[in-house]
Amino acid sequence: MITTGAARLAGVTGDPVSHSLSPILMGLWIDAAGLDAQYVPFPIAPEHFDRAVSGLASAGCVGLNVTLPHKEAALDLADSAAAAARAVGAANLLTMSGGKIHADNTDIAGFLYALEPANINYDKAKVLVVGAGGAARALVYALLTVGVSDLAICNRNLPRAEGLARDLAPGASLIPWEARNDVLSDRTLIVNATSLGLKGRNELSLDWDRVSPGSVVFDSVYTPLKTGFLAGAAERGLTAIDGLDMLIGQARPSFQAFYGQPVPQLPDLRGQLIRHLEPS
Ligand code: NAP
Repeated sequence: MITTGAARLAGVTGDPVSHSLSPILMGLWIDAAGLDAQYVPFPIAPEHFDRAVSGLASAGCVGLNVTLPHKEAALDLADSAAAAARAVGAANLLTMSGGKIHADNTDIAGFLYALEPANINYDKAKVLVVGAGGAARALVYALLTVGVSDLAICNRNLPRAEGLARDLAPGASLIPWEARNDVLSDRTLIVNATSLGLKGRNELSLDWDRVSPGSVVFDSVYTPLKTGFLAGAAERGLTAIDGLDMLIGQARPSFQAFYGQPVPQLPDLRGQLIRHLEPS
């Protein structure tokens, strides 16, 4: 596409940001929609975050997606914030208009979008969330909004899980890290919201024999697409969902917010993204 002087500029910021798939994803949608727009990566170090984002807002940038380590700083810097972002304590979307910055959290919608094909009956679901960091907070918030009432949270650092439960889910059971396999048998949805499984890190290992057939398993990690965690679930015959659809699902409302257009349907979006993730 040709970019004119009237193009709408948005982007993604992180430190680092070079691994982000968002510029490719947004670029595919911008091309398909025929927009006069650009979406670019902005590597910004934490000490420059506030100044750089304010500068971009002053320069007419319409918004930013925000990834690690800036999600809390993004919420703090904003002039206003959606209630969900405030509750989660982190923002992954900043929209900019008239010099004002508004924060939102679309990881919540992204997670639920990824789970849609599994047709989960949330009222009856018994969920185990492993992790208590920023992603876990968004996922727990999402689960509560769709009516999950039986929720267990397990994190290596138990006080962090206690903090999450105190802030968002006072009714959740807290599971010590060493006891995670003991609660598997009645869990119908098991979620990895830790960074275990990311390329180069240890895997999140569970005793899959203890998980009931028919359970659904979700991994927030998408690099690699098939983690050891998901491989274990698939071997057990469970429905195993990777983090790529969450990435797509969190980007959809961002695209709409930046460019004021519905997201175009692309027949092989996942395939195109996977080719960038795992070049042959
Ligand atoms: P974070 O705030 O840094 O939290 C990291 C989490 O991983 C904590 O619960 C931490 O436990 C746990 N952890 C790290 N190393 C561990 C280890 N060796 N053993 C046990 N637990 C360990 O990160 P985050 O923002 O929540 O991100 C978590 C994951 O979600 C990342 O892989 C990220 O890429 C993914 N994510 C995916 C999407 C998507 O669109 N698919 C969106 C957002 C995030 P402690 O508290 O004990 O340290």
